[in-house]
Amino acid sequence: MRITVLGKSPAWQDTGGACSGYLIEEAGTTVLLECGSGVFGKLRAHCDYTDVDAVVISHLHADHFIDLIPYSYALLLTPRQQPVPVAGHPGTDDPARPRLVAPPGARQMFRDVVGSWGDGELVEKAFEVEQFDPRSAVEIGPFAFRFAEVPHFILTHAVEVSSGSGRFTFGADCRPCEELVEFARGTDLLFVEATLPRPERTGIRGHMTPAEAGDHARRAGAGRVVLTHISDELDADWARKEGSAAFGGPVEVAREGGVFEL
Ligand SMILES: [Zn+2]
Repeated sequence: MRITVLGKSPAWQDTGGACSGYLIEEAGTTVLLECGSGVFGKLRAHCDYTDVDAVVISHLHADHFIDLIPYSYALLLTPRQQPVPVAGHPGTDDPARPRLVAPPGARQMFRDVVGSWGDGELVEKAFEVEQFDPRSAVEIGPFAFRFAEVPHFILTHAVEVSSGSGRFTFGADCRPCEELVEFARGTDLLFVEATLPRPERTGIRGHMTPAEAGDHARRAGAGRVVLTHISDELDADWARKEGSAAFGGPVEVAREGGVFEL
């Protein structure tokens, strides 16, 4: 299993960067986990977007799904996906239509967003939309995807991807909790969010600091740990030190283009 960080920014992009997007590849199967702002362009730098087998979304915040909109337009409008010859392309009877594995409520959310300018079926025309049931695993090629609800501002699921080569756990966005610790217990590789320079001072908590992220990884007994969903406006060395101290060993900080192999 090969995981490439396409985007690791929080809800606003780093300079020249992208919000959440992770490409997961093994044995000819390609899955995009999260498709936040800026991710579609980054995806194109790594692979042909018509070769992606499935997109998986953890929760319906814009920084995790909004680039499904340009992705949908590309799948529907690019000349090589048309049934007749266009612009030097021969035409195809079998245009790519990747699976889109998204949380309960996603279909209506997509209709509401793109419907606001009269294009309500856009995402469903471009993708084979499936709403996952968090109690059931989803098989995609050699991967089994499992989901566990974690506490955030809206319905959100941590995602586990396992195959013959190992187990990768993505914590999605969450506040400090036991749910992620339980779900990630003994995982080979944990991507855990480290959005905050300090805990939220008011309101409901929704995110974690690098120290809290490292603490969750330690409690879960994770093998390798990568802090993600972190802005270029936070000092990566500071985050690494805070996370490593809490984990009790070295943690890494995600950077765009970073590759992790299991
Ligand atoms: Zn979120």
